[in-house]
Amino acid sequence: MKSPTPLIAGNWKMNGLANSLAEAKAVAQGVGATQVRVAICPPSILIAQMSEALAGSKVLVGGQDAHADDTGAFTGDISAEMLADAGAKLVILGHSERRDAYRESDALVAKKVLAALRHGLEPIICVGETLEQRNAGKALEVVTGQVRGSLPAELKGKAFAVAYEPVWAIGTGLTPNNPQIEEVHGAIRETLKAMFGEEAEVVPILYGGSVKPSNAAEILHAREVGGALVGGASLKAADFLAIIQAV
Ligand code: PEP
Repeated sequence: MKSPTPLIAGNWKMNGLANSLAEAKAVAQGVGATQVRVAICPPSILIAQMSEALAGSKVLVGGQDAHADDTGAFTGDISAEMLADAGAKLVILGHSERRDAYRESDALVAKKVLAALRHGLEPIICVGETLEQRNAGKALEVVTGQVRGSLPAELKGKAFAVAYEPVWAIGTGLTPNNPQIEEVHGAIRETLKAMFGEEAEVVPILYGGSVKPSNAAEILHAREVGGALVGGASLKAADFLAIIQAV
């Protein structure tokens, strides 16, 4: 059985100014020649500068969202082509904050994935249940439904990652225990194999939600966890490096 190459991706969300590039450079220096794939997804306005600053390092730069269309009258939006043009190699899509605040549906996320593929970006597709859904015993149904609805068939043979991010664990300091993580990651893996065949064994399934240096090793060693999507703890190079080193 093949296994995925671990990916640790930092999601800076709406944080960071030009002087925050120093943190990204410190990450690049600190990771050296690690075998882990590392990415930082800063606000889109920093992507071009960060790509230049990190050129030649092991740290890839990614976007946090992309419009489903390539061009058009969409004030304030950024296309996948623009992200790629600015040096991004990956893009986070379907983050729960966008599914919630901008009412992004699975169908829209799937269109955004197609846009990413058109421009050679590796999508990190986020899924995850709310606390209400978990308490109703619906976590697996919700998450596997999001995987089926947000991942188009065109992903077959392409590089992509899925991030399981329980909504109730994002930015709260709460985390599921390892058996809970393993149950959901196992269900995602089975769904991916049903959709894409055995090649889905190499798709990294990231865990995201309050990952920090103190819990990273435990979470990252859970079965079927192929890396992490890290929010708050990716803003400080020392914390992000400690998580990378915990793989
Ligand atoms: C996220 O928003 O993707 C995330 C995982 O945030 P945090 O690590 O801050 O919980």
